[in-house]
Amino acid sequence: MTTTRDNTIDIAVLDGSFADEATQAAVRVSNQLAFQAAGKTASGSDKTNLFDLDRVSLENFFEEKLGEKRFRAHQVMKWIHHRYVTDFNDMTDLGKVLRAKLELHAEVRAPMVIFDKASSDGTHKWLLGMDPKNAIEAVFIPDKGRGTLCVSSQVGCALNCQFCSTATQGFNRNLSTAEIIGQVWVAARHLGNVPHQQRKLTNVVMMGMGEPLMNFDNVVRAMSIMRDDLGYGLANKRVTLSTAGMVPMIDRLGEESDVSLAVSLHAASDELRTELVPLNKKYPIAELMAACQRYVQRKPRSSITFEYTLMKGVNDQPVHARQLARLMRQFDNAVQMKDAGKVNLIPFNPFPGTRFERSTEEDIRAFQKLLLDSHVLTMVRRTRGDDIDAACGQLKGQVMDRTRRQADFRKTLQSQGIDDAA
Ligand code: SAH
Repeated sequence: MTTTRDNTIDIAVLDGSFADEATQAAVRVSNQLAFQAAGKTASGSDKTNLFDLDRVSLENFFEEKLGEKRFRAHQVMKWIHHRYVTDFNDMTDLGKVLRAKLELHAEVRAPMVIFDKASSDGTHKWLLGMDPKNAIEAVFIPDKGRGTLCVSSQVGCALNCQFCSTATQGFNRNLSTAEIIGQVWVAARHLGNVPHQQRKLTNVVMMGMGEPLMNFDNVVRAMSIMRDDLGYGLANKRVTLSTAGMVPMIDRLGEESDVSLAVSLHAASDELRTELVPLNKKYPIAELMAACQRYVQRKPRSSITFEYTLMKGVNDQPVHARQLARLMRQFDNAVQMKDAGKVNLIPFNPFPGTRFERSTEEDIRAFQKLLLDSHVLTMVRRTRGDDIDAACGQLKGQVMDRTRRQADFRKTLQSQGIDDAA
């Protein structure tokens, strides 16, 4: 009999409570002002932002651009990621000449904290300005013996998963490596995290806004800084990338990285999954599971977490649980390892205008029991930070939509007589 850690909370994501109209206006103004005060826009500087560089690229930068020894890069990484120092003048073990060179060619520019909010249970969320028009959200969730940060990879999302509020925001752009690792830096500095000594931040999940595998290079580079001893020193298994199922990129990830993989499944039949996750039309379940199999086989003893958001009457019935159990058993058999596939059930978090509802507690329990009885390792992810509306799976931020998604969604809301809070 498999066991359950029913109270496990891995992430809590936001429900857009920052995004009411008044707040948005204030955000726009403060954003604009702060960027003006800084005298530059996010892309307006020709200096290299050292947050963009992982160990190898920073070593190259020192050697090729500055004509310095490669190991100097290590000192700088420690100043930035271990001690949260961004001013070269404060990097006291670097010589004056080097500091002047750095000043000329480089900068250490973190995302701007527009505001942050703490929950009584220790959950903390930040609204971070990425450029004058766009902001994203990041959430920290402490739990017994660990602290997990949920990080965004894009401003908005180009996929159109039907039950996800980020989808209603449309898509603007990929985040740079600096903007991704910057989220970790902001949270780690706030927490007084000292890698290798006082670890407050023990896990990172790429489960915020965006599809991380559609921003592959920047995400992989940022994850390399998360795992580097000179960065945040997190073990491979403590950095998790969650994907809606970009099959070719899962293979590339397997070749280039060793992180934990989570796959947003949500349905075990193609018909239903295509309805919920339109990407399934391009990469159906059989292809997705084959890619997962290849991923696990490259890394002996690793497993994959399959996320399954439970929506009332849509995918939460015994028939769905049995389909899922069968799929998980097939997966374990294919890779010849028990518990190669784990299931993480996420009770749906509603947002204005959605046609879905959260499953009843009874159905959630019954769904989990059916899987456990079929020997599938299954957890229910509970939300945290209720008093600051830090619920799971609903990052919103502020997106200057380049698609028609936000406008279409607003029309839907208006037709339902709902105030436009998007
Ligand atoms: N694009 C990536 C990562 C972002 S979503 C992916 O699809 O995996 C992180 C997780 O939250 C995914 O499993 C997603 O399906 C889930 N999620 C999205 N909206 C949700 C909601 N309203 N309620 C509960 N979970 C949700």
